[in-house]
Amino acid sequence: MKLEVKNVTKTYKEKTAVNNFSMVLQSGECVGLIGPNGAGKSTLIKVISDIINPTMGEILLNGKKISQMKKEIGYLPQYPNFYHWMTAQETLAFMGELSGLRKEELTKAIPEILSKVGLSGEENSKVGTFSGGMKQRLGIAQALLHKPSLIVMDEPVSALDPIGRREVLNLIEEIKRETTILLSTHILSDAEEICERFIIIKNGQKIEDTTISDLLNSNRENKMIFEVTSIDQEWMEVLKNLNYVKDVEAVGNKIKIEVEHIGLNKNMLIRSALEHRVDLVKFEITNDTLEEIFIKLVVEK
Ligand code: ADP
Ligand code: MG
Repeated sequence: MKLEVKNVTKTYKEKTAVNNFSMVLQSGECVGLIGPNGAGKSTLIKVISDIINPTMGEILLNGKKISQMKKEIGYLPQYPNFYHWMTAQETLAFMGELSGLRKEELTKAIPEILSKVGLSGEENSKVGTFSGGMKQRLGIAQALLHKPSLIVMDEPVSALDPIGRREVLNLIEEIKRETTILLSTHILSDAEEICERFIIIKNGQKIEDTTISDLLNSNRENKMIFEVTSIDQEWMEVLKNLNYVKDVEAVGNKIKIEVEHIGLNKNMLIRSALEHRVDLVKFEITNDTLEEIFIKLVVEK
């Protein structure tokens, strides 16, 4: 399996939802498409899943146009449309037939897939009685019914409560072993747990394509946190005026100090604290968390 997104642009009247976006997904990968609301995630995912056509560019799966390869792709929409009066079994039969599966195939495939998503025993329950997590697992079952080699999920856990979120994340963790995954989210921590690679989208454009460790390493910050018994305004002023200090910020009893070179400046800072009789409780060297890096990327760039 190889998915190629080639220079995809999608325009709605004046609005460019996706702007000259390219990426490649290889077999076995689990990739998170991450971006704030309105970034273009759903639009891009619909183009990839051949639900809508791009204005420009193309999607290739194993080198062939996606429209000829629909059987290889499973799609979970951001807002799956279920009939609440149908049972789980009826829902899958209905959707399976819509996607061209034969009745005999479905008789075999439906119990298998219900078991895979942890809904065995619920086949005759009405979807209207399902929790958010169960509905989303049924949505994933629907996307996997025809055994695609790639499953594309649009915000599969964003709308769920913590229990539903856990259920679905565990399920995705299992699916990952046999299916290539592309999933979108506006919540970094959703993807952090399951994806090795992140593609960040903002205003329809790709702004980053990276791994967790590369992202953390490239943003290795020169920061120290001093925890003190109370903030000494005089020392705060001194810090701001030190030529090697780039930024100072006090939150509660913690002072976060960004310096030019942590290795060179660490002891200078400690000496300065002692000279000013700052009552230190603790000091540590710190890096930005993924969340902080993400916010920087999507808000400040
Ligand atoms: P995301 O899923 O990242 O929140 P979307 O792909 O839904 O972003 O939307 C990207 C942009 O395109 C938004 O500004 C949105 O308002 C606009 N958009 C999405 N769908 C349509 C549509 N059918 N008609 C017009 N504008 C749209
Ligand atoms: Mg969306």
